[in-house]
Amino acid sequence: MITLALSKGRIFDETLPLLAAAGIAVDPAIANSRKLILPTADPGLRLIIVRATDVPTYVQYGAADIGVAGRDVLLEHGGEGLYQPVDLGIARCRLSVAAPEGFDYASAVRRGSRLSVATKYLQCAREHFAAKGVHVDLVKLYGSMELAPLVGLADAIVDLVSTGSTLRANHLVEVEQIMPITSRLIVNQASMKTRSDELEPLVAALSAAVAGEGAPAFAGVSE
Ligand code: ATP
Ligand code: MG
Repeated sequence: MITLALSKGRIFDETLPLLAAAGIAVDPAIANSRKLILPTADPGLRLIIVRATDVPTYVQYGAADIGVAGRDVLLEHGGEGLYQPVDLGIARCRLSVAAPEGFDYASAVRRGSRLSVATKYLQCAREHFAAKGVHVDLVKLYGSMELAPLVGLADAIVDLVSTGSTLRANHLVEVEQIMPITSRLIVNQASMKTRSDELEPLVAALSAAVAGEGAPAFAGVSE
């Protein structure tokens, strides 16, 4: 039995069609339930539902053989013990710096001002500003980063942006794009070696689904 770790929300919603294209249907009644362990039409594959930031941890320790995680989450985790064989191209967004409409970020950077930046993405933010030679005090948050500059907790934020509507709603402007983000398939390195007979066909089928090839459908090894 292969265990695939996923987070609910956009990753779950965008992974199910890829699984379906690979020949692995998930019963909609089960997909919409509150269950954390979900069977699929293939008796050789089950899904587990975990928090997005926890997906690499479950796969790293082998509690799941395979998973789907955003590049943002993988960069913060470090990727230890994981293969990243396929970019699924889903949950597409970008990691960006955003600041209040009235804040002249470019000239603050030019002047060499010390900036305070609130983010959930400490590693990515630290690397980005170090590479630019900008001095920053990073403030770690776990959510609602958009609020921080509005109440004086930080000058700017580093957060994920897709349409920009959350930024606009909070009078923030995207002032710098750091990197594009998509979700990747991740595989436990030990599982990939010891269970390659089960995992390789699944990875190949998902890779074909991403490429829009439809086939080969995954015919899992059931047990
Ligand atoms: P929560 O929202 O419950 O705090 P989370 O932010 O960790 O949890 P999601 O919002 O479901 O979880 O995001 C999961 C992944 O989807 C992120 O790691 C990122 O790769 C991607 N993602 C996040 N926000 C967006 C977005 N606005 N547009 C597209 N993809 C996004
Ligand atoms: Mg979120």
